[in-house]
Amino acid sequence: MRFRHLAALALAVTLPLVAAEGVDPEIPATLAFLTSPGLGGRGASEPGGEVAARFLANRLASMGWLPAGDATPEGRSFFQTVPAIAATYDPGASWIETRKNDGKLGVRVAGSSGTGGFRFVPDRGDTVVVESKLVFAGFGIRAPEHAHDDYAKLDVGGKTVLVFSSEPREQDETSPWNGARATRHALASTKQRLAESLGARALLIVPNPAGKAKSAADLARDEEASWLGLAAASPSIPVVYVDAETAKLLLQGSRFDLEKVSKQLEAGKPVAKELRDRVFGLHIAMKDRKDVRLTNVVARLGVENAASAILLGAHWDGLGEKGGAGYQGADDNASGVAAAMAAAKALKASPPRSADVYLALWTGEERGLLGSRHFVAHPPALPLRAAVNLDMLGRNNLDRPDYANVLQLIYSARAPILREIATSANHETGWDLRFYGALRFQPISDHASLAEAGIPVVYPFSGYEPDYHTPADTRDKVLLERIDRSARYVEALVRLLAEKADSIRLDPSIEGAPPADAFERGY
Ligand SMILES: [Zn+2]
Repeated sequence: MRFRHLAALALAVTLPLVAAEGVDPEIPATLAFLTSPGLGGRGASEPGGEVAARFLANRLASMGWLPAGDATPEGRSFFQTVPAIAATYDPGASWIETRKNDGKLGVRVAGSSGTGGFRFVPDRGDTVVVESKLVFAGFGIRAPEHAHDDYAKLDVGGKTVLVFSSEPREQDETSPWNGARATRHALASTKQRLAESLGARALLIVPNPAGKAKSAADLARDEEASWLGLAAASPSIPVVYVDAETAKLLLQGSRFDLEKVSKQLEAGKPVAKELRDRVFGLHIAMKDRKDVRLTNVVARLGVENAASAILLGAHWDGLGEKGGAGYQGADDNASGVAAAMAAAKALKASPPRSADVYLALWTGEERGLLGSRHFVAHPPALPLRAAVNLDMLGRNNLDRPDYANVLQLIYSARAPILREIATSANHETGWDLRFYGALRFQPISDHASLAEAGIPVVYPFSGYEPDYHTPADTRDKVLLERIDRSARYVEALVRLLAEKADSIRLDPSIEGAPPADAFERGY
């Protein structure tokens, strides 16, 4: 029912008829539709997002691609339903506290207390309650390569762990911890995984007095109260960012001084302490929990007798109605979808014979790679030998003309053949390819989901620009010729990957990535 109404809305959005010279009209048409105000920024769980998904499925059907989403009583659908949960963090009903061992309340800090309180970035649908002993564990880092182990003398099983933010000597250019740049040990997600693997029940992070971040708000990125996640995922232990004032209250009466401890830790002396005289309590309230269904679009070319497949993917979702900001998400990622659609049309006109090609247009990338994570958990029948992810192909890196001819190529370093294929595929289009091979990938785009599932990935990326994730990422600023050239490159890349599908493999014995080509990183 919902869709019938949405289809009517889709028809109300007019398609442009003017195309730039030499550019496949599929590109401006896709861009115009996806960025139109009627789609409201294509939020994954919002009506405009569903309109985008239907539009793309209709286009693929008219190109002659076959549906490869869910099996339904009427046959295959272009849509793959992604069961998800939406909920909202309720700071007003949340608190952290300490109790004496006899049960008497020590201190309680409310989630709504703002500065001097604590912050929680929602990552689950249900309220979480923890009652446990509290342990201070330095930076919460275990890094054998730096002979550093904050957990060496601690048993944190069943307890809540309080740690400093980031890593030792965070602002010291001469630090063996990658100078003033952070190592992966500094990430909250690394600390969370480690604490969880040691049996901890919750993680509290307080700014290190000697570090860059000064408040819980500095540490809590993306503070939006609303949360959207996969129904099938189980949340990790909660991470709560506490202000120094709050940490002091929790430690009150313990003669444990964070300033002093920071100095010791910065000097390389480990500090750990269990507070045996109190019980720590955490109550993080989530409200308005509801089940929602998100939508991937999945299609295939249908090669006869194919034994394997190549995947081409791009996320269709944007930031949606968030704060009423009026996002278009033109570069991120209408540009990648437009390139995928143009490449899809060209591939359909003369399909590769050696392997099947799947096209996946994912939902919920902006909410934590939801669509691609669901996709890899429910993959197509044919084994995927390689995946190409398209995300941001519309503007020059940093908006600088000296990057006009440059395309970054992020790829799985354990499959060196990808680099050879990516180079050969560039014969016609002549990009100045800048390679970035990696063994593991930060979850910055959907290729990370595929890489985690053991699929070799290639990710052509034009770079970040000043309007990234702002309402100023508009259609008038994306370069149609750049997207068109990217699409032609992607078409050649997918053809070659299909041709070589059976020789693409990850080699687990490769332990290092080659040095990355120059490509400045901004924003
Ligand atoms: Zn994106």
